[in-house]
Amino acid sequence: MDMPVSDPAAFSKARLIMTLRSAGVTDTAVVSVMEQIPREMFVPEFFLDQAYDDVTLPIGHHQTLSQPGIVGVMTEALRLTDRHKVLEVGTGSGYQTAVLARLARRVYTVERHGPLMEEAEARLEELRVRNVTTQIGDGTLGWPEQAPFDRIIVTAAAADIPPVLAGQLREGGVMLVPVAGDHENQAIIRVTRTAEGFETEEIRTVKFVPLIPEEGAA
Ligand code: SAM
Repeated sequence: MDMPVSDPAAFSKARLIMTLRSAGVTDTAVVSVMEQIPREMFVPEFFLDQAYDDVTLPIGHHQTLSQPGIVGVMTEALRLTDRHKVLEVGTGSGYQTAVLARLARRVYTVERHGPLMEEAEARLEELRVRNVTTQIGDGTLGWPEQAPFDRIIVTAAAADIPPVLAGQLREGGVMLVPVAGDHENQAIIRVTRTAEGFETEEIRTVKFVPLIPEEGAA
């Protein structure tokens, strides 16, 4: 790859593209959007030098920013178009939200930690991402007033496929959710709503922080 080593920004972007490639992400729209969004904006200052490494990074409140490879894999597996209305459960830093917003028509995103949401909102505003609606609360309840959704993405691990969220999918709609197998690893499951019910398939194994229902907030 032709890469001026004296240009740190170009080096970081090249590293991101290599990460996405080794994670198996081939959708050029996903790669291009992730290349354009400055990931360093979503990373705490202390970890800035790792902004483009394929690692999860702490964002406070015992939560993490998912590694770019997983963001790429999950976004690609959603098969988004600019007609899609998307629900995201677990806004976190807002990085995945920004990626979704660049590819979909509108994103509704729920985060249980108010301070994380405030920071995410400020970043999205700075990036002039205007097609996102936010809510602080328990995302396991979905967003009934805005259902049905074409796509749902859960960015924290659920104990099982959340039936409430599956019920908020439009027919033909797709949900991606990491489901806990054991304490260490989960499988990303793609759930598709069909006329007859739901089809599920495993995309890959992964490690996420757990999805916490509001009752567990204390
Ligand atoms: N996608 C995020 C990003 O790009 O930074 C990373 C998400 S982090 C792995 C998981 C997020 O889910 C955390 O911010 C956590 O607070 C949030 N979360 C956990 N349980 C939740 C719930 N029941 N409702 C809403 N958000 C929840």
